[in-house]
Amino acid sequence: MNVHEDAPLLEIRDLRVTFNGPAGPAEAICGIDLALDAGKVLGIVGESGSGKSVTMMAVMQLLPPSAEITGSVKFKGHELIGLPPQEMRKLRGARIGMIFQDPLSAFNPVLTIGEQICEALRLHDRTLSRGGARDRAVELLEMVSIPQPDRRARQFPHEFSGGMRQRAMIAMAIANSPDLLIADEPTTALDVTVQAQILDVLQRLREDLGIGLMFITHDLGVVAGAADEVAVMYSGRIVERGAVDDVFYSSHHPYTRGLLAALPKLGGSDGPLTPIEGTPPSLRNRPPGCAFRPRCHIAIPLCGAAQPALATIANVSTACHLFSHFEAMP
Ligand code: SF4
Repeated sequence: MNVHEDAPLLEIRDLRVTFNGPAGPAEAICGIDLALDAGKVLGIVGESGSGKSVTMMAVMQLLPPSAEITGSVKFKGHELIGLPPQEMRKLRGARIGMIFQDPLSAFNPVLTIGEQICEALRLHDRTLSRGGARDRAVELLEMVSIPQPDRRARQFPHEFSGGMRQRAMIAMAIANSPDLLIADEPTTALDVTVQAQILDVLQRLREDLGIGLMFITHDLGVVAGAADEVAVMYSGRIVERGAVDDVFYSSHHPYTRGLLAALPKLGGSDGPLTPIEGTPPSLRNRPPGCAFRPRCHIAIPLCGAAQPALATIANVSTACHLFSHFEAMP
């Protein structure tokens, strides 16, 4: 496969994913645009059903046959949509790595951690000897700060703690020096201390190896410390996007503001957190106009009539009629 080394790492244009089932079509992704450069971290944030994981699966070409995918996903200038499965298999695990939320189910319970990393290495490099692969596996475990990596490589997944397993998963994901790492809720099942350690490992890898990282999470707090840019998704669309500081300090969309208000404050008030009331709409039965309207306290009549488009003001792109309306006023 010909990739263009000077092309952007990942470019997604007008990506749409529709699942066709007995109950009718369900549009999970309704036309999103995203881009990620080498050495940068893009956080994709949203509730369950927002489409963030479907986006990731579309990039990896891991969606079931019932999914209809249109638009463009380019990795280093090479189109991935419609790529033959054998070509995609060469990319997955080699130039594009994945970190899953639950490493226990991602690992094979009857093989040692070292054997599994060796397998990942030799799958993409048949010239690598068993001894060479083993040495490299130990090196990789050391890179992700696993103590006594030589001994740990001989242990089984159940002998690792949750945080250690996640680090071993990261070691396996970077085994073949990928250009792009996609992490799907990599810290969700971990306590905050271990979460900070994992984020630290990912940060070091991005700095030392220049890997581009797509970080999928429901937690805006995690993105704050880990990402350069953030895209907030709601009901299959990007509703706000920008540099992480700009979105945190100058967000306009009521959904992003709701997510920020729901975050616990460090040393802050003792009062209850403010949840976003209501639930996201069904993919088969979205309300007309803005999909957030049933949960939005500041909706205007136009919100029920037309879908707001992303408009960029002061470095933040926001899809909200109210924001565009006020910004357009003299
Ligand atoms: Fe709320 Fe309307 Fe903005 Fe949607 S477009 S978020 S309903 S104000």
